[in-house]
Amino acid sequence: MNRAAHRERIAEVLEGAAGAAKVPYPIGLRELAVRDARMVGAGLRRLTFVGPELAGFENHAPTEHVRLIYPDADGTLRLPEQVDFRLKWPRPLPISREYTVRRYDPVAGELDIDFALHPGGHAAEWAAAAAPGDTVYIAGPPGGLIVPFTYDRYLLAGDITALPAIAAWLEALPADAAGWVFIEVVDASEEIDLVAPEDVQVQWLHRGAVPAERSDLLEQAVRAVSLSEGERVYAWIAAEAGVVRPLRRWVREVLRAEPGDAEVSAYWKAGQADFDEDDEGDH
Ligand SMILES: Cc1cc2nc3c(=O)[nH]c(=O)nc-3n(C[C@H](O)[C@H](O)[C@H](O)COP(=O)(O)OP(=O)(O)OC[C@H]3O[C@@H](n4cnc5c(N)ncnc54)[C@H](O)[C@@H]3O)c2cc1C
Repeated sequence: MNRAAHRERIAEVLEGAAGAAKVPYPIGLRELAVRDARMVGAGLRRLTFVGPELAGFENHAPTEHVRLIYPDADGTLRLPEQVDFRLKWPRPLPISREYTVRRYDPVAGELDIDFALHPGGHAAEWAAAAAPGDTVYIAGPPGGLIVPFTYDRYLLAGDITALPAIAAWLEALPADAAGWVFIEVVDASEEIDLVAPEDVQVQWLHRGAVPAERSDLLEQAVRAVSLSEGERVYAWIAAEAGVVRPLRRWVREVLRAEPGDAEVSAYWKAGQADFDEDDEGDH
């Protein structure tokens, strides 16, 4: 899909009544440098990336993600090859991880990514140690989930890995949007400032010492929502693989979402490095 075609398709989805759609973009590969690193709450480390290659970055929707590419254990960096608007990846695949575009500012030439810090994670440990001047290659975004702002209500729910996307969602929603937001964190120290439309209720859920993959706070909160007959609701949910499973069921059986009216994603899976739900066949 060329540059003009994907923009036309985005406009068409935004205007249409057919619900959300995933729109592929021309995929880029860029070398960027860390300009700034700081904590956002106690759980996220925000890296601000800059560099001349950031020009022309595609950013159209709040849940877009990029793939950060890391060198092999022996230090060799094996990059995909740019072929027209696609990337051809070397085999075996290089080490890479997916992260949400928290903010892209084309005027300032800055890209923010918020990394949840956790022990034993390749990307999390890289982000924890990253300092100004460090460089990394990023691929993507490969496309975006384009959601019309014509729904009666929005339900957004997730753990700290989904918080960057939820924060971007809240900034993108129109001022008259309504809905519910549930974000599960360890405790109040992981909460961050969010700017939300007045009729969107934001609720922080504290799981304390319970491991994220064993917490059912998100499920309980979502199940407690009272849906009104005839209202069109869009649901976006992302968290650990086991946590989202019952929420997928809720979307199907309680919300009875039509295709295009909900997106539920497993962003990581306990005990599995480099998890990719597209390899699982369970969604
Ligand atoms: C589309 C998409 C967007 C995402 N956006 C973000 C984002 O903006 N910010 C963000 O922080 N994450 C985000 N994630 C999740 C992130 O990609 C995964 O958490 C990833 O596994 C982290 O890589 P890692 O190298 O740190 O850990 P890995 O090397 O993949 O995993 C090592 C171990 O850590 C565990 N683990 C992985 N993630 C976590 C976690 N969050 N908490 C506790 N244990 C964990 C794994 O189960 C494994 O046992 C996103 C995922 C997807 C699919």
